[in-house]
Amino acid sequence: MRRTPLFTALRGRPVTEAAPSPVRHEAPAPFPGSAQLRHVDAGSCNGCEVEIAQAFAPVCDAGRFGVRLVASPRHADALLVTGVVTRNMATPLRKTLEAVPRPRMVVACGDCAVSGGVFAGAYGVIGAASDVVPVDVEIPGCPPEPFAITEALRGLTGR
Ligand code: SF4
Repeated sequence: MRRTPLFTALRGRPVTEAAPSPVRHEAPAPFPGSAQLRHVDAGSCNGCEVEIAQAFAPVCDAGRFGVRLVASPRHADALLVTGVVTRNMATPLRKTLEAVPRPRMVVACGDCAVSGGVFAGAYGVIGAASDVVPVDVEIPGCPPEPFAITEALRGLTGR
């Protein structure tokens, strides 16, 4: 299931109007202009959710780069997965991805989703998101800073 991510976000770089996105891409943006994301908490401590909320709050305002969180995977271009994948969330995560129309992507947000983080090997845990679904973008950090999340999401839209 593990495959090479499209890109891995850099840590802690501020996003400003003057500076272009520090996420560098050789390939064109997979969803030019706008990307709809369905968030799946696969077993998070909620730290990543706090930072995602900040990424969409006025300071970072990820929405200005064409990124939106949507309520249904059927309206989404990509999944935004947080947390290590617990045993009871593996099937819902797979089913949610199946509900996303193609072409689709998976963004692993936070060390838990990227590698298992502090919960790797714990009882009741299957592993990282890539142990269950194919991951295209990784955002490291525990939790990743809102700027890093915003940068990574800019990479989806190219804005
Ligand atoms: S990466 Fe850190 S903040 Fe995010 S879910 Fe794991 S332990 Fe919590």
